Amino acid sequence: MFDVNIMQNKGFVIWLTGLPGAGKTTIARNLAPKLSNLGLKVELFDGDEVRKQLSPDLGFTKQDRELHAKRVVYLAKLLAKHGIISIVSLISPYRAFREFARNELKDFVEVYVNTSLDTCIKRDPKGLYKKAMNGEIKDLTGLQDIYEEPLNPEVTVHTEKESVDECSEKIIKRLKELNYI
Ligand code: ADP
Repeated sequence: MFDVNIMQNKGFVIWLTGLPGAGKTTIARNLAPKLSNLGLKVELFDGDEVRKQLSPDLGFTKQDRELHAKRVVYLAKLLAKHGIISIVSLISPYRAFREFARNELKDFVEVYVNTSLDTCIKRDPKGLYKKAMNGEIKDLTGLQDIYEEPLNPEVTVHTEKESVDECSEKIIKRLKELNYI
C-alpha cells in the first residue's frame, strides 16, 4: 500500500541555547527562510514572543522557566508529528532540562550559540544586562543566574568569529550530515 508519510519530511526540532544576547533569535530568523527555501515547513518559537503568548502567567524562577519550556516542547512535538521543523530559541540554561527536551522530542538538534558573556554584555540588544546591573532585574541568566554550557551539542556556532549567515550554513550542513534534510 502507498504510504503518504514517505512523501513527507520528518519533523524535528532545532533547539538554540545560549546566553541572553548570544544571537539565538537572530540566527533563528536567518535560518528559517533558508530552510523554507529548501521546501521545508518551518515554525519559529522565539523566546520572548512565545513567552508572551504561551506563558504570560510565568516568571523566571527555575520552576517557571522549566514549565514554560515544557509547553514549548509539547507544541514542538505535536508539530514534528506533522513533518514540521520547529526552531526554538530559548536561553534554556539548565542542562537537565535540555536533556529532558532531547528525550521527549527524540529528533532534537541542540545548537549551542556560543558567545562570551563580555560580548553579550556589550551587545545587550534588549537592554537586559543594563537592567540587571541597575537592579531592575534580579535573575538574569549569565549575570545573576547560572547558564550551564552544553557538553555535547550537535552544533556549536561561535558568533564572535562566524557571521549570522555562516552560523546558519553551519547548522544546515550539520542537518544534512545527520540526515534530517
Ligand atoms: P538572543 O536571542 O540570544 O538573546 P539576539 O539574537 O536577540 O540574542 O541578539 C544578538 C545580537 O548580536 C543582535 O544584535 C545581532 O545582530 C548581534 N550579532 C552579531 N553577530 C552575530 C552572529 N554572528 N550571530 C548572531 N547574532 C549576532
